[in-house]
Amino acid sequence: MSKRGIVIVISGPSGSGKGTVVKELRGICPTMQVSVSATTRLPREGETNGVEYYFKTREEFEGLIERGEVLEYTQYNGNYYGTLKSEAERIISAGDDLILEIEVDGGGQIKRLMGNECVSVMLIAPSAAEQESRLRGRGTESEEVIQGRLARAKAEIKEAVNYDYIVVNESGKQTECAENILAIIKAEHFRTERMNSYIAEYFE
Ligand code: 5GP
Repeated sequence: MSKRGIVIVISGPSGSGKGTVVKELRGICPTMQVSVSATTRLPREGETNGVEYYFKTREEFEGLIERGEVLEYTQYNGNYYGTLKSEAERIISAGDDLILEIEVDGGGQIKRLMGNECVSVMLIAPSAAEQESRLRGRGTESEEVIQGRLARAKAEIKEAVNYDYIVVNESGKQTECAENILAIIKAEHFRTERMNSYIAEYFE
């Protein structure tokens, strides 16, 4: 029976450890796909076009929006970020699960668009203090930059109530955290609305 993959939105403010957990998740479940987003931000050292992101100019990105080629998009730190419809459709129509590692604005857009077809997970640090210490421990940024990040993180966490699941990423336990997310995804596959075709077949 042909089936479509599930879209899993994973959001988490800086300090939640989202990047590491998503890497772990892909390690323990290699069939899980991550869609490559488009962005207008410049590539960081070691980033390759088509791998981490499709790097676009503002004009190119606005063209994608005008032609309706993005599933969702937002502006974050002055740059556009968006999920390409073509990427997402290719993955879910092949029956693979798709992870969208996106911020809360985009997460909300996907939820409104897809409803229960999508599962949303908000990843958080175990406490506000731990989150702040992870943010501070990260580098040599100025207090102003850190305060800006903390404020943005708090605004993102406020959106957690609109997510289907909230998962805590305990320090040093990223594998367990990824396993918890995998458990959610596995259970979602057995939701009644996803299993209906198996029941319908009995009555054809
Ligand atoms: P970064 O510049 O650090 O790679 O990403 C900044 C933020 O943008 C992160 O929270 C990341 O999850 C989010 N992001 C990456 N791709 C997309 C996207 O396609 N759509 C949205 N809405 N956010 C994205």
